[in-house]
Amino acid sequence: MDMADRISGSFAGMAVGDALGLLVEGHDREIAINFVKVFFEDRDEGTIPDPFGQYSDDTQLTRELAASMVTHRRFDPDDYAGRISNLFASGRVIGGGRTTIAAAQRLATGIHWSEAGAPIGAAGNGAAMRAAPIGWLYRASSSELVHAASQQAMITHHDYNAVGGSILVAQAVSLIIDSEGTVDNGDFLLSVAQPISSTAPQFANMVYDLRHFLSLPLDTSHSIISQLGSQDAAGEWQGTISPHVIPSVLWALFSYLRSRPNYLEVIKLAISGGGDTDTTATMSGALAGAECGIAMLPDDLTSRVNDNSQWGLEKLVSLSKALAEIRCSQVGLGRTDS
Ligand SMILES: [Mg+2]
Repeated sequence: MDMADRISGSFAGMAVGDALGLLVEGHDREIAINFVKVFFEDRDEGTIPDPFGQYSDDTQLTRELAASMVTHRRFDPDDYAGRISNLFASGRVIGGGRTTIAAAQRLATGIHWSEAGAPIGAAGNGAAMRAAPIGWLYRASSSELVHAASQQAMITHHDYNAVGGSILVAQAVSLIIDSEGTVDNGDFLLSVAQPISSTAPQFANMVYDLRHFLSLPLDTSHSIISQLGSQDAAGEWQGTISPHVIPSVLWALFSYLRSRPNYLEVIKLAISGGGDTDTTATMSGALAGAECGIAMLPDDLTSRVNDNSQWGLEKLVSLSKALAEIRCSQVGLGRTDS
C-alpha cells in the first residue's frame, strides 16, 4: 500500500466516522449503542439511513489544515489561523466547540494567532480532533511534527493537555502510516505517548496505561476512561465520553487498538461510548483508516461524505495525494530513524 492510499484512508475514515457520530452526538451510551445497531442493520439490508454524509467541524477544520499544508508544502500557522477565522466567519461550521468559536472570534478582530487561544484550563478536544494532517506530512517523533502539532493547537488552545492531545493524534497517525502491519499495543502506546512525556506527563502515563484496559470487560474500560481527567464527569457528560481532551483521545486510541484492523468495528466502538461521538469517531477513524487504506473502506459510506454538497471524497483524496507527494519528496524530512 502506498502513502497516498494510507493518507486517503485516514482522511476518508475520519470523515465517515465524523458524519456517523454527528447523528448521535451528545447522547448517552444506550442511545448511541442502539443508533449504531439500527444504522448497520439498515445498511446490511441495502439502505443507508438518511441523513448521512454531512460531516462536522472536526473534518471541516482538518480539511482546512490539509489544504493549507498543500499550499505551503509545510505547516504555516498564519495561514491556518486565517482559514479557521474565515471558516467560522462564513457561518458554515457544523457544531463548533465553544473554545474554538471564541478563538476564531478573537482572530477575526485581528489578534495574532499566538495570543488567540484559550488559556490553561480549557482542555477540550478541539485541537486534537483536527491534528491528523500533521501526522500525514511529518515523520513520527520528529521535531517538525511536535512543533507543528503544538502550534496548530495553540491557535485555539494553550492548555498543555489540549496541546498534548494534538501531538498524540498526529504522532499516532504518523506511526501507523509508516508501520508495516503488526503493531504491539504496548510498544505503540509507548511511542505515541513519548513526545508529551515531559510537557503533559500525567496524560502520557494514561496513554501508556491503556494497554491494561484492552483486556478488561468493555463496560469496565469505558467506566474508567470516561472518568479520567474529566471535570465534566459528574455533570452533563456523566456516563459518556466527554469533549475533554483526555477521555476522548484515550477512548479513540482504545477503540482503535481494541477493534483494529476492522475499520467499521473501530468507529462503531468509538460511537458506542456515547457523548462526543463525532469527535471520538473522527480520531479513531483517522487511525483505523490510515492502517486499512482507502481501498479497504466501505465505499457506500465514503462516497457519501460531504460538506454542504461540496468537499466530498474526491477532493479529500486529491488533498491526500498532494500531501503524500510532499511527504515522499522531502526525503529525510524529520527522520529520526536513519
Ligand atoms: Mg464535531
